[in-house]
Amino acid sequence: MSEINQGVGSRPAFWNNSKRYYDLKSFWRNRFGCKVYKLPIDAGFTCPNRDGHAATGGCIYCDGRGSKLRQAGLLPSVTEQIHKGMAYYTVHRQAGKFIAYFQTFTNTYGSLDQLKKLYDEALASPNVLGLSIGTRPDCVPAAVLDLLENYAKTHHIWLELGLQSIHDRTLTLLNRGHNRETFLDTVGRIQGRGILLCVHIIVGLPGETREDILETARILARLPIQGIKIHSLLALQGTVLGSLYESDAISMISKEEYVTTVCDILEILPPEMVIQRLTADGYKDIFLGPAWAVNKMDVLNNIDGKLKRRQTWQGIRYRNK
Ligand code: SF4
Repeated sequence: MSEINQGVGSRPAFWNNSKRYYDLKSFWRNRFGCKVYKLPIDAGFTCPNRDGHAATGGCIYCDGRGSKLRQAGLLPSVTEQIHKGMAYYTVHRQAGKFIAYFQTFTNTYGSLDQLKKLYDEALASPNVLGLSIGTRPDCVPAAVLDLLENYAKTHHIWLELGLQSIHDRTLTLLNRGHNRETFLDTVGRIQGRGILLCVHIIVGLPGETREDILETARILARLPIQGIKIHSLLALQGTVLGSLYESDAISMISKEEYVTTVCDILEILPPEMVIQRLTADGYKDIFLGPAWAVNKMDVLNNIDGKLKRRQTWQGIRYRNK
């Protein structure tokens, strides 16, 4: 028996990969039969957590600068951004199909007409299979869900909700401007519309214990969520968190702790949940720490290595009750 199939039970065959978790690349290859890549788009949105609608100042870790394109002062059209991304991924990664990823700030924060125009523009590009739309739990009104539900009848539609933690005391500390109840309500309103839901969480948040983040994972494991993005807390210059880090008022999670916790989370999550991300890094010019987070490949290798040594994989400890 190969090492990868040892332990209690075996890895789910439907993953059709050699990993110990169900990564996004494998999910899309299984669904579409080709390489699919996300094309990041900055469509010029802002954020209700920065302009006073939800709160001011933004989340304590947010640098508020937006994409490099926006910083350069020139924001090309959605079509131009898509064509540029397509050209790159076609040449360098032999990609066949694409998902337009509305990534920067809160991509449902606009009038319905404005949203429809931007989403329609993205879907009009050849080889774009669908959309992935990053937003906040408190910025998804019924009319937006109706719009996305309509797209989902003919396209592959993901909604990405930033949650970070299920614990209200942490959300308050982070100045997230929404609470757990708002998140749970939004998850309920998305269900049954054909829209795939991806939730973002952060490991190593100030004041959170390992048990706190595992509790977040256990709750998410029982919800109708199809994907997850996990990353470590990053301190950036010019943010509240960055100042706390620079003055030694907080310490960041170690690589070993992060890797161990991510493996614990993966074991708890259902085997069907698509793992969209396990690392992240900030802009190099304002990145403060933790230093180990810069080497994303090393972090991923450590996660793979730990799961292998444990002889476990995503979903091995999943309980739906
Ligand atoms: S919700 Fe996102 S864009 Fe808005 S302040 Fe928080 S991290 Fe920044």
